[in-house]
Amino acid sequence: MKCIFGPVPSRRFGRSLGIDVIAAKTCSFDCIYCESGPTTCLSITRQNFVDCGEVLAELKAFTRADPNFADVLTFSSGGEPTLYEPMGELITAIKKDYPHIPLIVLTNGSLLWKPEVRRGLLKADRVVPSLDAVTAEVFRKINRPHPFLEPEQIVEGIRAFRKDYKGRLHIEVLLVEGVNDGPEELCAIARAVESMTPDTVELNTVVRPPAHAGAKGLSDEAMARAAAFFGSMNVEIIGTFQAHEQESSEENIDQRIIDTVERRPCTEEELAASLGVSAERVRRESAKLQEQGRLTRLSFGGKTFIRPVE
Ligand code: SF4
Repeated sequence: MKCIFGPVPSRRFGRSLGIDVIAAKTCSFDCIYCESGPTTCLSITRQNFVDCGEVLAELKAFTRADPNFADVLTFSSGGEPTLYEPMGELITAIKKDYPHIPLIVLTNGSLLWKPEVRRGLLKADRVVPSLDAVTAEVFRKINRPHPFLEPEQIVEGIRAFRKDYKGRLHIEVLLVEGVNDGPEELCAIARAVESMTPDTVELNTVVRPPAHAGAKGLSDEAMARAAAFFGSMNVEIIGTFQAHEQESSEENIDQRIIDTVERRPCTEEELAASLGVSAERVRRESAKLQEQGRLTRLSFGGKTFIRPVE
């Protein structure tokens, strides 16, 4: 199992080196907007998908090759990271080896009602649970969860986590047109989020090709209207990826392009910024990979995304 990928372009974090410890595609949700495609293993059972030592060895090998490797380390995957049983052990080891690099965990929050999951995340610098719905009907429609999960249980879990967690808690709310952007649901989500006292609310929408072709993103105006429901809370509407000036190795660009788009579809500009090479180089390499039948292009929201051939 290959666990380290990227760095990938993140609209929130800049160049994010991904850590993926979950077998594809295992998740407790099957969100209609998922960038990683449909969930093939819908589960709430935590497992040891890969040995911690292997993940650390892979991370070391990567960081030795490129000392300016990324702006942040992010647990994010084509699945739910908290399904990894030794998550706490791995976070502790990474923070010991890389104390100066912010460590972020993106989670759907669905397992935070389990005390052992909450304990495992306490040493992360930032935890970003998502909350897209609080009423059962909308929850089932947008997140298509494991049948054991209920929205109240998830809200309670995030609240309990906030009580013990000293790092930055950001709650992500992803809005899909006509699904969870109505005033009643937005009001209910905002009330629940307020009770979690997050540092920031990240309002997001569908900007990449989703698992379900019908999942549409909101316009800038609709996002601004939605933000108003969160009153005086610190709300951030997620913008587009901003690259940092940097130099990076041009070795294995073709493989690095494939590794990046396997996790999430990207535009050529995002790939160039993320991999630290020129847009022209990405264009040349991706055209070659497309001719070889390894990559394909897909239009979504007025942009062209590169993704692997299924
Ligand atoms: S968006 Fe996240 S929580 Fe939803 S199905 Fe994809 S990986 Fe799972």
